Amino acid sequence: MKSTRIVLASRPTGMPQPENFRTETVELEAPGPGHALLQTLYLSLDPYMRGRMSDAPSYAPPVEVDQTMCGATVSRVLESTDPAFAPGDIVLGYAGWQTHSVEHTSYLRTLDPAAAPLTTALGVLGMPGFTAYSGLLTIGRPQPGETVVVAAATGPVGATVGQIAKIKGARAIGIAGGPQKTALLRDHFGFDAALDHRAPDFAEQLAAATPDGIDVYFENVGGHVFDAVLSRLNKFARIPVCGLVAGYNATDLPPGPDRLGLLMGHILRKSLTLRGFIQTEFLDQFGEFYPAVSGWVANGDIAYLEDVVDGLDHTVEAFQGLLTGKNLGKLIIKVAD
Ligand code: NAP
Repeated sequence: MKSTRIVLASRPTGMPQPENFRTETVELEAPGPGHALLQTLYLSLDPYMRGRMSDAPSYAPPVEVDQTMCGATVSRVLESTDPAFAPGDIVLGYAGWQTHSVEHTSYLRTLDPAAAPLTTALGVLGMPGFTAYSGLLTIGRPQPGETVVVAAATGPVGATVGQIAKIKGARAIGIAGGPQKTALLRDHFGFDAALDHRAPDFAEQLAAATPDGIDVYFENVGGHVFDAVLSRLNKFARIPVCGLVAGYNATDLPPGPDRLGLLMGHILRKSLTLRGFIQTEFLDQFGEFYPAVSGWVANGDIAYLEDVVDGLDHTVEAFQGLLTGKNLGKLIIKVAD
């Protein structure tokens, strides 16, 4: 069996470019004991992958140059030496940017295609949905009547954050890039207000939409969105720091005066709680997350949106789009039928 795979050819500086990757076809070994041969059906593209392309210190080791790019996948089992996995089974795994792979079965979880669309295992019912659930409820702790603000709000993390906030009785304000996305925030996801962070008067719009201030800011982006949010935060506001995608391609600190003192002043005077987190820290909550969120999806309390791009050969271009806001919802590559 051959696999076509995309390897990291060199470490990007700034936005990853096609020349930072190489597509190659390799012969796979037959699966050894406890292994399965898999055909990738869907590949998840996520912002964290930009960090794996860099060897800067991080919470996880980088992908090595000449290694296959990493990523969560939904795959079909073609062969297996583990009796728990049969040919034809559909599994969630971490095969990366490739058409076929041989994986240890301890890394695989069987999916039931009748329970939910397979792609949801990479989005609302998978890692991004779990990130939203655990980060919002553990650190953000939204209370009825409070105001919750989240950016990248049409993405799988932000959209789930906003809708769980509403389920908990809070007012949800979504921030996204451009009129098509703000319309989705209002009409598809049911946010109470939708703001375009690219609008020249974004900071004024945010002030108008948060007359009672902000109690929870779920931080997905950083940059100019955080600048506008800072002065709107209420006393005792909670800020789960989940991601800073606005800076993932940065090669240096932004220009301008040092504003650390300003930030620390807000933290002190308003008794703010900022806590960074990586979703794996909360894995003991997965057992409560899955029935809760799959139930909300099934009864219509949580809507989701997926942007499925056809063909592994479009992966690099699609990933660039994820870092510039071209994706409309959870970005997934359809690798095979
Ligand atoms: P996503 O929203 O599907 O995609 C990223 C979005 O970020 C883009 O669509 C774009 O949306 C927005 N963006 C990009 N550059 C921006 C900028 N300069 N300013 C403002 N917004 C910008 O991604 P996701 O998978 O849901 O992830 C959202 C965040 O959660 C990311 O920061 C990710 O790294 C983080 N995350 C963290 C964990 C964890 O364990 N801590 C786990 C999963 C995800 P707009 O067009 O709307 O601006």
